[in-house]
Amino acid sequence: MNTLKEIAALCEDLAFDLSFARAREWKSQEAGRVVVGHMPIYFPREIIHAANGLAVGILGGGDKKLIIKGDAYYQSYICHMPRSIVELVLDKHFEGFDGFIFPSICDVIRNLSGMFQLMGEGKFVKYLDLPQNFKAHIGGTFYRHELQTVMDEVFKLNGVVITAERLNHSIGLFNLNRRLICQLYDIRQDFPWRMTAADLYHIVRAGYVIPVEEHNGILEQAVRLIQQETGDPMDKIRVLVMGAFCEQPPAGLIRTIELAGCYIVEDDFLLGARWIQGDIGTGSADPLEAITSAYLEKSTFSSSVYDVGNPKEARLLDLIRKRKIDGVIFAAPSFCDPALLDHPILQKECNDKNIRFISFLYSENTGQFKVIKEQVGTFSDSIKLWD
Ligand code: SF4
Repeated sequence: MNTLKEIAALCEDLAFDLSFARAREWKSQEAGRVVVGHMPIYFPREIIHAANGLAVGILGGGDKKLIIKGDAYYQSYICHMPRSIVELVLDKHFEGFDGFIFPSICDVIRNLSGMFQLMGEGKFVKYLDLPQNFKAHIGGTFYRHELQTVMDEVFKLNGVVITAERLNHSIGLFNLNRRLICQLYDIRQDFPWRMTAADLYHIVRAGYVIPVEEHNGILEQAVRLIQQETGDPMDKIRVLVMGAFCEQPPAGLIRTIELAGCYIVEDDFLLGARWIQGDIGTGSADPLEAITSAYLEKSTFSSSVYDVGNPKEARLLDLIRKRKIDGVIFAAPSFCDPALLDHPILQKECNDKNIRFISFLYSENTGQFKVIKEQVGTFSDSIKLWD
């Protein structure tokens, strides 16, 4: 592939292939391989990789799947993503998946894990209770135990023993993956016209459904290409989009924001891919400890984490300064409790620091962007004219 557009087009096809063809093909190529689905936001995929598995991110049906049966499973006043995931289950999209991980982020995800158990989906279903205590001897011990439970489940399926060597190797691959994604964000920070936010989104999202080795190859090409000058800078404001960490906005909405006079230079769309800030230590005799410590000490901030000792407001301000943000767009899925409970706190901080912001709600299958385009366009114009 010779251009970023070609890479992004390939990645878009991979990312939105709801038949998960690449994962199935990978599994079929060797006996003993397992495919494990995981929900947002963050799951340490290293432990599945080290067990000869592929961890596949499940982010809902987006705007590619018509929801009919899934709606019947839920009341109207919750977010959209679990409906489309149930629809995918009922239409057999996950056939061949061996297990499913539900990281604890909200009651909806907790209930969805129960739904999977009732529907008999997969050979195991694990609600991964992430610690909200960040002390090593409390939260760390608990988290390690949770991860060990997942590893035990996979061992029951294929009998692969996760040695320190295997796990260190997997950590190294995912460290590289995070580093390359961060490089793309960092280069876009200075040259956002070289790659659209939607293209970046597709390139990162493809990594949720293909082996990390292949994704690293794609990212290396993208990093090489984005270093070459393409396109022309435009008179747009620089925005940070916040609140979209779980149910994903449709790609059309991401495009709409940029078409309405903004460069999205920071976001939390696929936060799990960048959850650990920096590398996880490699080479130790106890790499599971390294994964545990990284979660406790290097996690980014998110509405799903209760980090009273490390306030999100301050971390948001740091990000605004780092990316030289002109304005914040709070975009949350309808009825997303974690995001919507946090937004007043974060918005107050923006008000206090005289940082401009707007907010709106979306669903993964939102199809009309006209109102959002007008709102974002007015936001962009007002900053350009009066700031
Ligand atoms: S979108 Fe929000 S409410 Fe819905 S499952 Fe995700 S975190 Fe929970």
